[in-house]
Amino acid sequence: MSSPVEQIKERLNIIDVIGSYIKVEKSGINFKAKCPFHNEKTASFYISPERRSFYCFGCNAKGDIFSFVEQFEGLDFMGALKVLAVRAGVELTGFRRERSDGKDKESKEKLFELLDAATHYFQQNLVSNPAALAYLKKRGITIETMKSFQLGFAPEAWRNLHEHLAKAGFSDVDMEKVGLIKKAAAKNASGISIYDRFRSRIIFPLADQSGRIAGFSGRIFSAEGKVADDVAKYLNSPETEIFLKSKLLFGFDKAKLEIRRKDFTIVVEGQIDLVMSHQVGFANTVALSGTALSLDHLQMLKRFSDRLIFAFDADSAGFRASTRSAREALALGMEVRVALLPAGKDPADMILEDLSNEKEGKEKLWPEVLSKSVHIIDFYLNHLFNEKLDDAQLRKRIEKEVLPYILSIGSKIEQAHFIKRIAKALGVDEEPVWQELAKLEASEKQAVRSVEQSPVPTALTLTNDKRSESRDRILRKLIALYFLEQENQHAGKEHAFEIEVFEKRISDIRGVDFLKAVVENYESERSELVLEAEVTYDDPTALVKNLDELLLNFEEEFLKETLTRTVIALRQAEAKDHRDEVLELLKESQEISKKLNTLARLKLSGN
Ligand SMILES: [Zn+2]
Repeated sequence: MSSPVEQIKERLNIIDVIGSYIKVEKSGINFKAKCPFHNEKTASFYISPERRSFYCFGCNAKGDIFSFVEQFEGLDFMGALKVLAVRAGVELTGFRRERSDGKDKESKEKLFELLDAATHYFQQNLVSNPAALAYLKKRGITIETMKSFQLGFAPEAWRNLHEHLAKAGFSDVDMEKVGLIKKAAAKNASGISIYDRFRSRIIFPLADQSGRIAGFSGRIFSAEGKVADDVAKYLNSPETEIFLKSKLLFGFDKAKLEIRRKDFTIVVEGQIDLVMSHQVGFANTVALSGTALSLDHLQMLKRFSDRLIFAFDADSAGFRASTRSAREALALGMEVRVALLPAGKDPADMILEDLSNEKEGKEKLWPEVLSKSVHIIDFYLNHLFNEKLDDAQLRKRIEKEVLPYILSIGSKIEQAHFIKRIAKALGVDEEPVWQELAKLEASEKQAVRSVEQSPVPTALTLTNDKRSESRDRILRKLIALYFLEQENQHAGKEHAFEIEVFEKRISDIRGVDFLKAVVENYESERSELVLEAEVTYDDPTALVKNLDELLLNFEEEFLKETLTRTVIALRQAEAKDHRDEVLELLKESQEISKKLNTLARLKLSGN
């Protein structure tokens, strides 16, 4: 039987897979799209259904369905495999990595297994703890939601989890690695004492983008209701090699598709806010896990929708931290809105209220608050207008607190809306407000420039050999056409050109072994090169014409290089006064010049 990877590849069509993430359109025998991996206005991302691969001419992103899902969803190979296996209906039970690249992946898999075992342990503990169950039910969380989010409970004991996992064969080293246990110097003489990190807490497992548990968030819970003041309400797993806080958003694995369908993301702060929002039909909700929204988070979300709604308590630390990332979001071309929560209420409270009002047919608070969200810049302006500042203060605060956000918006049309509003509020013309914006822009650019001018060598400042660059480009195109023709002939398609003639031309110019060596060199890029040639030349006549030109250019570049070398040798021979050698080199260089002239005439005549 074929491997799961092969089965998945057979069952899934690359156009369907990529088409479920981005808009693709037919282009000749291939499909094209705007590249999801770099910003572009015109499509240079091509997909070949025949070769089951994609390639971007803008950023060189390339690969098959697995690498697409890996890159698009930010997963590793196993994560992408899991996503695609579900889609293809292929069973992965007992499957051990196929494309394993060594120990690293193996040990990561072990850590995921360990986290799974811990999750099951916590889940069982919740089932057998009526008080914790009752608490969650009181908050409005249903049994189905608890199951789907794998909620659990860590009992009030020091080593229960550790003992359970040790019995199941997991090592202390791994348990410590994923942040489940801590070590402390023991009071008695026995040396090191090990204890569970999560004790007496309701456990929210935090999944990565592919749905694998990567860490936990524990909310303090005590059946007697007595909680010491110095105990944190929420405790998260520490940052580990698989729990990367700047890359993980709680609920994102379950929210992705709904974010794309509804075309916006709701960002909440609390774990209970998140599960409740999902429970009442807003599965496009994600929650932060004790960090601000990072650039990685934003880029993850932007792949699914350009629109964000922050639903935080406006006085919370999370809100303040996240509004800082709002500038980045605006600069990425995203729309950022703020949902105004009633004072002292969080989304979970509002949803619970909605649930208890359901029978009375009252209007629902949570959907309403979301539908009344305002643009973050309007939110700031409203905030300042409400402070009843005098004109001078208001102007200053707007310049300092609001203009930077307006600057981050790339579009002048969108900027105009806010500039108008500010001018009106300040009772001034729009022109001076635009001028302030321009001043701010200039000063920010200056700051960027001074960073760029720091004396750190960059790749660009390193000199490169222009000639060999152009020669390599020509050679690459030639090899692409050569590969395309080989594939066409192999598939029994019509010949665009005679492959033997091509081979002879190359060996006439560069010798017999040259082509073989170059082909070997480019073999690993074969499928991208074929696709590249195929999308460049939909028309066989254009291909043949270009092939002739390329061959002429290739010969010309080679002759020019040889001429340069010969002339250098000639100068050296002259300096040493080697008369015979001088004469020979002179003759050689004249012959090369003559050939170059002939070539130039051929090129001019378009032949
Ligand atoms: Zn690209």
